[in-house]
Amino acid sequence: MKKIRIYELSKQINVSNKDILKELEKMGITGKTHSSNIDMQTAEELRDRFGKKEEPKEERVVEERTEEKEKVSEDKPAVAVEEVEEDEEEIVIPDRFKKEIVDQKIEKLKSKSLQRAFQAIRKIEPKRKFEPKPHRKAAKTKSQPAEKVFQPQQPISTAAPRKKAIKIAEGTTVKEFAELIGKKVSDVIKKFMELGSMVTINQPVDLDAAVLVADSFGINIETVSEPDLEAEEIVKVEDRPEDLKSRAPVVTVMGHVDHGKTSLLDAIRQTKVTETEAGGITQHIGAYKVNLKGKDIVFLDTPGHEAFTTMRARGAQVTDIVVLVVAADDGVMPQTVEAINHAKAAGVPIVVAVNKIDKPEANPQKVRTQLAEYDIVPEEWGGKNIFVDVSAKKKMGIEDLLEMILLQAEIMELKANPNRPAMGVIIESKLDRGRGPVATVLVQQGTLKIGDPFVSGTTYGRVRALIDDTGNRIDEAGPSTPVEVIGFSEVPQAGDQFVVVENERTAKQIAMQRQHRQRLAQVAKTRKVKLDELFKQIQEGQIKELNIIIKGDVQGSVEAIKGALEKIQHPEVKVNVIHTAIGGITESDVMLASASKAIIIGFNVRPEPKAVKAAEKEGVDVRLYNVIYEAIEDVKKALEGLLEPTLREKVIGRAEVRQLFPISRIGTVAGCYVLEGVIQRASDGIRVVRDNIVVYEGKIASLKRFKEDVREVQAGYECGILIENFNDIKVGDILENFIIEKVKQTLDSKK
Ligand code: GDP
Repeated sequence: MKKIRIYELSKQINVSNKDILKELEKMGITGKTHSSNIDMQTAEELRDRFGKKEEPKEERVVEERTEEKEKVSEDKPAVAVEEVEEDEEEIVIPDRFKKEIVDQKIEKLKSKSLQRAFQAIRKIEPKRKFEPKPHRKAAKTKSQPAEKVFQPQQPISTAAPRKKAIKIAEGTTVKEFAELIGKKVSDVIKKFMELGSMVTINQPVDLDAAVLVADSFGINIETVSEPDLEAEEIVKVEDRPEDLKSRAPVVTVMGHVDHGKTSLLDAIRQTKVTETEAGGITQHIGAYKVNLKGKDIVFLDTPGHEAFTTMRARGAQVTDIVVLVVAADDGVMPQTVEAINHAKAAGVPIVVAVNKIDKPEANPQKVRTQLAEYDIVPEEWGGKNIFVDVSAKKKMGIEDLLEMILLQAEIMELKANPNRPAMGVIIESKLDRGRGPVATVLVQQGTLKIGDPFVSGTTYGRVRALIDDTGNRIDEAGPSTPVEVIGFSEVPQAGDQFVVVENERTAKQIAMQRQHRQRLAQVAKTRKVKLDELFKQIQEGQIKELNIIIKGDVQGSVEAIKGALEKIQHPEVKVNVIHTAIGGITESDVMLASASKAIIIGFNVRPEPKAVKAAEKEGVDVRLYNVIYEAIEDVKKALEGLLEPTLREKVIGRAEVRQLFPISRIGTVAGCYVLEGVIQRASDGIRVVRDNIVVYEGKIASLKRFKEDVREVQAGYECGILIENFNDIKVGDILENFIIEKVKQTLDSKK
């Protein structure tokens, strides 16, 4: 019986899959997805319903496929382009018609995107790596109605009786492209050159241009550039209001070090778990559930804002409520403020647990007053934050705290649909010796069951076992349940989405495709907020708010920069300072910037080495200044698109001071070890950094190896450095040697 896939029909009649599925439901046909087959009669009926008359020659008909047939292609080597010979009778597309499509396509290209296409080719980064499409289904797009299998070795003859649809995926290199269309690389490159584009053999081709080049050889190709949205489609399942059931809140505990976060988590677990049959023995799976008067609360076991923000930077918002622990004997401390800013940036409500009230010097009222400065105001004072006084040590107020969390949750009306394929987030993962890759999933939607196939980030699998927070094996886990899952192909990353899909094969396809896209994306650079590109991003409508984090050496300058930045008025963009603090730029600052799409301004401070790495990885723009005015001007200019090519310093080397040699009448020579890069006497300057704070900036007066004056000293060697007019050097100081470079800006707006 002749059948047609829904997405093929969708393409033919130009009606979205979603609308077709809706219409099918009206016709009483349910349980279909966009890749399901329907019979021709139903297709006909649909055409009528959408007022699209059938044009018999246009349609592509494929026979219903059996699992076997699909398997064959799955085992094939992954290829970007797929081509198959189908039975003569099945294909009803006359050549003439295909030609028409080609002509139209080319017309379109010629008119509009041609130029863009060729511009794009020139801009393509040569590093972009080609990763073949793993499977024909993963490579499906709207423009690819028939599913075909490509045999790479098969000679491609233009005289074939049927037209072939060669598919080419994003990331295909010139060489691969040439092979696919069966032409010599040199000929292909020549064609690109004729079109005004210089390409090299291993450079990825621009898809639009490739269509034209292939056409000039009389070959029809189709591009496969759209992402496979299967997993995302499930995410987007719209739950009807009546399907939603209330779910337990998920809580993260934050606060300053030693204020009692861990003690509080332990106290909660102990008081609540001993009441259950598990007898107080809990399994550490990264989160646990407690029950108060029939209602559940989930606590994430990793306290602190680092984990919270790292997850958020990865796109996972897991926490519903933040419990901010503040020790009543210590009050608001820097990390308290940091936690507040991280929670605020995420838009998560804060419940304050004023801890250590058992201590005689405890002053819970003072904590309230201090927090009010940060806009955390108790309800009894007319604010919107719940405060609870507790003692984690004496287990006082724990029940109150839980009750208040439930109250906060009630206000939030947290809901989820338990009757749908499960979806969640990885909150912890590890490679277990006996069990293989294991991860704790916090189920957010639906119910996760044994046997469910799933995809998570770039890994996939099938649920082989589920273990809850008391160490018991369970068969299923509903919304707001942390559960350890066994059955991953590889260890997923904390913060990765976890989505149950139709079958394991689909899961694998999606995972592979994501790996492919991830590689492309890494090269294509993450599109984070960059001051240099700000104006362009504003024009593209990508930015409505410019979030800024300010770190400085003294409170006064931080406040001054904050005040000035917040006064900047811009018709389209609001400037928000989301976090300020004293001290060097930390990894946590970078993660906050990444999660909140912020830039970091450092005033007289340096980033920690870990922060430098994180900023590079996350693509966060870190700007370092030592003149307040310059910091403010740069932001202003960037907002107006006037950021001129500036001089920017580049650190060429770092040395650590290991010994001091005071020499009379000359000064203190720093005996140094060059940690990285190179120290050059003729560089533009050297900076003395102590605990990530810049204490001095000047020039090198002399650079010596042993007694000899030298021009430069490489990493791994010792040297003596004398800094002009500066003798207050200390052992452990880091000397940063820099040069000033002219930086080209990439603002298109500048004429
Ligand atoms: P964290 O760094 O925020 O996780 O803090 P911890 O939970 O490790 O607690 C730090 C110290 O404070 C430990 O020595 C605890 O015993 C102590 N502590 C925690 N809660 C209380 C409390 O309610 N009362 C008293 N007196 N000490 C506490």
